[in-house]
Amino acid sequence: MDSANKIHILEGTFLSNAENFKRTLLSVNDGVYMTDRDRRIIFWNHACEVITGYSAGEVLGYKCSDNILNHVDINGNQLCESDLCPLYQSMAKGLPGEKPFLVRALRRDKSRVTVEVSVAPLFDDERTVIGGVEIFRDVTEEQQLAEMKARFLSGITHELKTPLTIIQGVLELVLSGDTGEINQLQRDFLTSAFKEGDRFKKILDDLLDLARFEATEFSFDPQLVDLSDLLQQLADRYGGEAARKGLKLDLLISDHIVVFGDWGRLYQAFANLLSNALKYTEKGKVTVNAALLEGRALFSVRDSGIGMEEKELNRIFEHFYRIDNELTRRVGGTGIGLPIVKKIIERHGGEIAVRSVPGKGSTFTVMLPARNLT
Ligand code: ADP
Repeated sequence: MDSANKIHILEGTFLSNAENFKRTLLSVNDGVYMTDRDRRIIFWNHACEVITGYSAGEVLGYKCSDNILNHVDINGNQLCESDLCPLYQSMAKGLPGEKPFLVRALRRDKSRVTVEVSVAPLFDDERTVIGGVEIFRDVTEEQQLAEMKARFLSGITHELKTPLTIIQGVLELVLSGDTGEINQLQRDFLTSAFKEGDRFKKILDDLLDLARFEATEFSFDPQLVDLSDLLQQLADRYGGEAARKGLKLDLLISDHIVVFGDWGRLYQAFANLLSNALKYTEKGKVTVNAALLEGRALFSVRDSGIGMEEKELNRIFEHFYRIDNELTRRVGGTGIGLPIVKKIIERHGGEIAVRSVPGKGSTFTVMLPARNLT
């Protein structure tokens, strides 16, 4: 039986009584409100009153967008009275929202409160959508804590970057010969110190990005992006590294692909996948593929490297997670790259997936909504 149709309450028990249900919903700690199809509020529990400052008497019969909740997303974009309204989308599709998400809701005193929201449609006996339900939880404190953590991380990262830039500047000066002759051994030592500095800088940049994501200060400037052109630049940038490792790097672009997104962020995400492929492959080749599939841009990086066990495949997208083996220990890394890639792709409305066979190689696939060029 379809689980949405399954009755989860035993008939004849105290729970099947609608009055009991109402009383329970009125008293739960999360805000619960229901609307009719026109998004007019028909139910408003006590937690809604506490979180927003509006009593039920003040909102029942009014639309939730009528300056009552007036949801905006975390970047301040209006969600009410547009197709972006999650409740509207849920009612239009007849499906619950995919996952809880953060919005900033208006309070009676005109301040805004950050709430985590889940939505679902309400059905009548014929399974026609007759309204919607929204459940929300005040997450202001969690959000403030996350922002504090992010500010701390970004402060420390900035502080570390300044002396590092000075050290690298001095190394560069000495290496250039402007401060006097240096012998080959000194040059080798200074060059390797400079390279380590670069690695350190990359770690700091990743940490800074992670902090910005947490603080929702992450720059994102969407425009039309020619993916074919971007990938060509990427292949040019990593061609040398592949050649140095004796790896073949193939770029196969079957269609002219345009997506709506942030060029720099997409480059950063794809560069991360390609650099990982080269990092974790000792022999063979790395293939970058791009094609259109049913209106979506499909991008993949396949390598013939060390591969990963099935049980690791979800964990590698967690912050700071690294698989412990001889190669990962030798090449080093922070475990920040993939979580950032995932966030960038999700921010573009896309998805990322990975398949892998230990000892044979891995394939990372990214799907993004593509723009129709005609
Ligand atoms: P980092 O590479 O800095 O450790 P990432 O977040 O980019 O961090 O990757 C997390 C882990 O996933 C890596 O430490 C590695 O164990 C594994 N991994 C990522 N890409 C590949 C790949 N192409 N082949 C094998 N393992 C990989």
